Amino acid sequence: MLSVDRLDAHYGLFQALFGLSFEIGAGETVALIGANGAGKSTLLKAIVGAIRVRRDGVLLDRQPVGGDAERLQLSRGVALVPEGRRLFPSLTVKENLQLAARNGRRGPWTVERVVREFPVLASFLDRPATALSGGQQQLVAISRALVCNPRLLLCDEISLGLSPLAVNEVYDLLAGARKDGLAVVLVEQNVQRALAESDRYYCIQKGRTVLSGRSDEADRAAVAKAYFGV
Ligand code: ATP
Repeated sequence: MLSVDRLDAHYGLFQALFGLSFEIGAGETVALIGANGAGKSTLLKAIVGAIRVRRDGVLLDRQPVGGDAERLQLSRGVALVPEGRRLFPSLTVKENLQLAARNGRRGPWTVERVVREFPVLASFLDRPATALSGGQQQLVAISRALVCNPRLLLCDEISLGLSPLAVNEVYDLLAGARKDGLAVVLVEQNVQRALAESDRYYCIQKGRTVLSGRSDEADRAAVAKAYFGV
């Protein structure tokens, strides 16, 4: 469904990605693992259109879409759950969801459906987004992406700073969303969790893929070596 072909990415003069290739098929969950600064978020930003990259460096259904604006990528079914969640603080949870639903694609996910499928949301629907715990905010951030009816969901560090219980809730919600054939890219600091939740993984180091494979066949020692670059 989506492939990234020998992609370079820059912030001004600084080069963050070096000829990185990556692909994900419909319904797959793929984990991106790697140390801080490896380039995982940059890859997500390139896919979602938040930074400018070579046009044929990102292919969606084999069509070049690299460098196209975020809004355009959203209309094609690519949605990001950003690091830090970035909910609108002055809006209630419901308003955050409604706003996203209006800007997203038509499809099976509506505000009513996310609340029905994830009833925990109902208990804080009318509260301001800022009045929620980190775990609750993360559930809202994922739900907000879902109501845009993506085919591909990019999740940047969705468990960061959450309690173990909240992390489980977040991954349970994601598992529920995946039943519909959604493809998911997971950037996750917790390597064990990343491998447990995914079909395949890529280990990124200094802007390059150094190891990839099926998650259930991952050699822990090789992954640790690729992760730390030792
Ligand atoms: P983390 O787990 O810390 O988020 P990451 O693997 O997601 O790490 P990126 O955020 O993609 O890494 O960063 C890759 C490189 O690009 C790092 O060296 C980082 O310092 C640099 N970088 C990221 N954002 C910017 C920016 N806006 N301006 C300049 N350099 C940046």
